[in-house]
Amino acid sequence: MFSKILIANRGEIALRVIRAAREMGVRTVAVHSTADADAMHVRMADEAICIGPPSSMQSYLSVPAIISACEITGAEAIHPGYGFLSENASFVQIVEDHGIKFIGPSAAHIRMMGDKITAKDTMKALGVPCVPGSDGGVPDFETAKAVAADMGFPVIIKATAGGGGRGMKLARSADELETAFRTARSESKGAFGNDEVYIEKYLGTPRHIEVQVFGDGRGRAVHLGERDCSLQRRHQKVLEEAPGPTISPELRAEIGATCAKAVADLGYEGAGTIEFLYEDGEFFFIEMNTRLQVEHPVTEAIFGVDLVREQIRVASGLPMSFAQEDLQVNGHAIEVRINAEKLPNFAPSPGRITQYHAPGGLGVRMDSALYDGYRIPPYYDSLIAKLIVHGRDRPEALARLNRALGELIVDGVDTTVPLFRELMGAPAVQTGDYNIHWLEGWLEDTYGK
Ligand code: ADP
Repeated sequence: MFSKILIANRGEIALRVIRAAREMGVRTVAVHSTADADAMHVRMADEAICIGPPSSMQSYLSVPAIISACEITGAEAIHPGYGFLSENASFVQIVEDHGIKFIGPSAAHIRMMGDKITAKDTMKALGVPCVPGSDGGVPDFETAKAVAADMGFPVIIKATAGGGGRGMKLARSADELETAFRTARSESKGAFGNDEVYIEKYLGTPRHIEVQVFGDGRGRAVHLGERDCSLQRRHQKVLEEAPGPTISPELRAEIGATCAKAVADLGYEGAGTIEFLYEDGEFFFIEMNTRLQVEHPVTEAIFGVDLVREQIRVASGLPMSFAQEDLQVNGHAIEVRINAEKLPNFAPSPGRITQYHAPGGLGVRMDSALYDGYRIPPYYDSLIAKLIVHGRDRPEALARLNRALGELIVDGVDTTVPLFRELMGAPAVQTGDYNIHWLEGWLEDTYGK
């Protein structure tokens, strides 16, 4: 086992990793920008080191600064959290070239899944069902026309290098195709420096279902069921739950086994998520995330395992601590992402927290780096807390979430807590009867946005 690891991240996820490491007797190094000198992850880690000014480019995304921090502190491995450098294959390569272990998959696997066409081709070859679409990249508008006519409208044009919903454009009919194609290409060029796009059949009313997988890097892999993340705003997840309300145990076992086998065949190491759209009883692969996800706690709740502990174990060369047959679903868990944002426009709302009180009690977990008097800096993501509840079944989890939201106090800045309090009263949320478009419609009806 490592004696010391460095966490190349901030906020709640940095704390999350520190907690797992501490329980394992592994020492931790926090890195921080000058804007985060008073941050909770800096206080909680065994050591902390300043790596640059507020701008992420010069701190949390600065590869030389992070490698130097490892060398100065003698950290043997780096946990990247999510976001920042977590899916940056060249960073992983540099880390390994310096004799430091990256806690996560190989650079080759990250690169493979970061290119969405390669990811899709790979998954298809491994027997994972994919969204019908173009065979690889679509080089020009003439080809796009032919592909779309063949497939039938509506279609969605997506960036090969895409992420965060950018470079993605819908064309409902032939009239909309040219604009959608050209916009997707230029957006993709601007965001990723690569204008290659591909075309997929657009699914009208799917749910977003993702399968948590975990591999030991030596050909063994398991799945930890699915999460339903259909409540989205602008393709960003807002609330996630596990298990999926529409997924039967048989279906879970089937899609789970397909995913676990694919990951085992790849020799994949660590945590990963295989994302699907699910419509009319069919799964369609859209992408694989080669990192720990924001919403991993709902999976931890129902399986009773610590995924970060497992990541650290496997990275250090130890075997996984569980086999597929040890993993049984227990109850239901829901997570809400609490952002420092002002409704109804979701405008960022940084500033000083004047009062903070976290909910507690049976089945309540609060992953947050907030404290009384903390000043949320304006430079980073607006996620400030994740509230996760666990109950014996979905109704119990919902009642617990409602109760916990009532106890939570975050004063001094605007947050999305009122949105969740309101959402608890929506019949579709109570019944679980929603698809990926439902929330946008509800927001429009509720806030006129
Ligand atoms: P990104 O990596 O940019 O987030 P994804 O491929 O994961 O892109 O897609 C993000 C979201 O876009 C999905 O969760 C879904 O809401 C929507 N989406 C993607 N592909 C399709 C499709 N073929 N049909 C309908 N919606 C889609």
